[in-house]
Amino acid sequence: MNPPLPRSLVAVLLIGVTAPWSSFAHPNHAIAPFPPSPLRSVAARPAAATAALKADARLSVEITDAKTRAPTAARVRITDPNGKPLGLPISAAIPVNDETRLAAPGSVVGLPAEAIGVMYGQNDAAQGFAFQPDGSFYVKGRFELPMPAGRFFLTISKGYEFARDQQELVFKPGDHLTRSVALRRWVDMPARGWYSADDHIHLRRSPRENPLILDWIAAEDVHVGVLLQMGDFWTTYFSQYGFGRRGRFAHDDFLLTSGQEEPRTGELGHTISLGAESFVRLRDDYYAYDKFFDRIHALGGVSGYAHQAMSFHGYRGMTLDVLGGKIDFLELLQFCVPEGPLAVEHYYRFLDLGYKVTALAGSDFPWCGRGRHPGEEQVGAQIGNARFYTYTGNPFSFERWLAAVKAGNTFVTSGPMLELKVNGQLPGSAIDIAPGTKLRISASAHGHATQIPLQRLQIVAHGKVIAEAQAKPGATSAELTLDHELAPVHGLWIAARVDAGPSQLAHTTPVYVTVNRDGFHNRDNLAAQVAVARRHLDEIRALLNQPAPNEPASPRAIPGPLSYRGGKAWLEQRIATAERSLDELSRRR
Ligand SMILES: [Zn+2]
Repeated sequence: MNPPLPRSLVAVLLIGVTAPWSSFAHPNHAIAPFPPSPLRSVAARPAAATAALKADARLSVEITDAKTRAPTAARVRITDPNGKPLGLPISAAIPVNDETRLAAPGSVVGLPAEAIGVMYGQNDAAQGFAFQPDGSFYVKGRFELPMPAGRFFLTISKGYEFARDQQELVFKPGDHLTRSVALRRWVDMPARGWYSADDHIHLRRSPRENPLILDWIAAEDVHVGVLLQMGDFWTTYFSQYGFGRRGRFAHDDFLLTSGQEEPRTGELGHTISLGAESFVRLRDDYYAYDKFFDRIHALGGVSGYAHQAMSFHGYRGMTLDVLGGKIDFLELLQFCVPEGPLAVEHYYRFLDLGYKVTALAGSDFPWCGRGRHPGEEQVGAQIGNARFYTYTGNPFSFERWLAAVKAGNTFVTSGPMLELKVNGQLPGSAIDIAPGTKLRISASAHGHATQIPLQRLQIVAHGKVIAEAQAKPGATSAELTLDHELAPVHGLWIAARVDAGPSQLAHTTPVYVTVNRDGFHNRDNLAAQVAVARRHLDEIRALLNQPAPNEPASPRAIPGPLSYRGGKAWLEQRIATAERSLDELSRRR
């Protein structure tokens, strides 16, 4: 028999969810956040129909891993036939704000007691983070939920390597439906030695939240969750209780580790560092990004630029820091920038100039969901929607993972899996050959026939497609492979990329090939790429030549490099050094 429902649950049963998360700007003061997509603005309006319904039916669900048969963490979304999630207790009369989203697991219909809540959200707001931005919730193995009579759709997912389970549920009053869902993998990347990571998660964390956040990343099948303490000139957000060994928490090959999105300015870009033994903040030298990176490297970590170096003028700072040999990676895949999830413009330029840059990726949770393209399912921010895989081999450990990140053995993805080898070597490897020696290049992409339907696999050298495999006309594919031979006379960089539609993409870090120890720079476009880099340095110089403000415009205005002693002189010196590097590059053959 059905146990009676708690009275409080019946009282607040409402249909309709709002996803107003995009109304919060990524805090950058004067800098505009990412423009909201049309779909997002629709989602941000409070639901009009919020009629209270009786929860006189019940749903019980068990979720296991089909292979291990053990209960497993997963993401759950329940929608009505119109695609609206069952959830949040928001009435049209209450303005959408943090408080209206505060819902403890089990306190409202649509959010079971088993939902895993982490009580801090955007900018550390205590907004009851149990509902995800799209109305989903995370559970570990099972949940029970009072349900109204009617038709619903239940979707259970666990990252990209497991097929989503979707089913229709029809409840009549008094029904108690039970479902056992065994999530099946369509690919097992850890068995191949590849482990997923999200380099960009913002969640305030004390040791108390460790097991909760670990369940969240396990529910997204993200093996390494990098939690970024974020800064600006004035303060820091998303406080992490510890860095280095103290800040790590692991269970069953899933691991949390601290990092930082700091320094972070609108003039020179947002940067990410991870793996360092402590947090680095140089408030009196905030625009001397190179000093941050030197410190991070001394503390065992790696540094790079966020947001594809597209937003917040990241390409400016990146020009200084790539030419100065200060950074390791670029966050190449993410749903934050208007140019699309895989914006390669700046990445390809630095590779063409002959610099090694590893591709990483991350969600920037709780910002940045997909949904810019019609028909896309997810419109809210989601941990692991953009992620990167690192080849660690087995067994997995943090040390092996960080070493492989440093070696550049990575690919980035928002769905497809992608492996590239050149002469048997992984992405990130350097190969030196004699002129005209034959290289064997092999790429293979894995997808899912309906959920990640592969369309094109490409091998790219110096930014040009040199080999391509397409799904048969009018069809899609779960597997695409390419074997290609090449006998270069000059050095080059070789990468692979694959797409399964406009928002399901993957790209590898390149293999770097040199001939007789000469560089792998692109001789065909070197002059043009040098000219672009010079223009970006000129943009920084123009900033420095603006008249210095007497007072910041508001108490929260970012002072800028002109507002404190030494900032301008340091940057001028760095620009001059970068220009000398470009002069040298221009003379290369
Ligand atoms: Zn950022």
